[in-house]
This record gives sequence, structure tokens and C-alpha cells, in this order.
Amino acid sequence: MIMFFHTCIKCGRLINPERLEVLPETRICKDCAEKLGSDMIIKDTKIGMDLDTYKDLLGAIRS
Ligand SMILES: [Zn+2]
Repeated sequence: MIMFFHTCIKCGRLINPERLEVLPETRICKDCAEKLGSDMIIKDTKIGMDLDTYKDLLGAIRS
């Protein structure tokens, strides 16, 4: 479950932790983001939960 939030939903590779620090909402890795052109596409359509809930989950993982 923890890995789920750190794994790219497009290619399945681990997302760089430094990227997650900058873009904690992201669900895709840098390479896929560059291909898609934006993280916002994924953020709005693919997460499937509201952003506050998602950030709470990330906070729980980090703590
Ligand atoms: Zn990817």
C-alpha cells in the first residue's frame, strides 16, 4: 500500500522521492509527466479521492 503511492501509475516504476517532495500529489514519474505534458491531468482525473485525503495519506506514510 505504501509503495502504491510512490509508484508511477503509468509505467509502474518508483517515483523519485525528490519529485514527490516537489509534487506530493503526483501519481506519475518524471518521464511519464514529460510525455503527458502535465501532472495536472493525472491529478484531476486519476487519483479518485479528494486532495486533502490524499495528502493525509502521504503525511501518514512519511511520519
Ligand atoms: Zn512513469
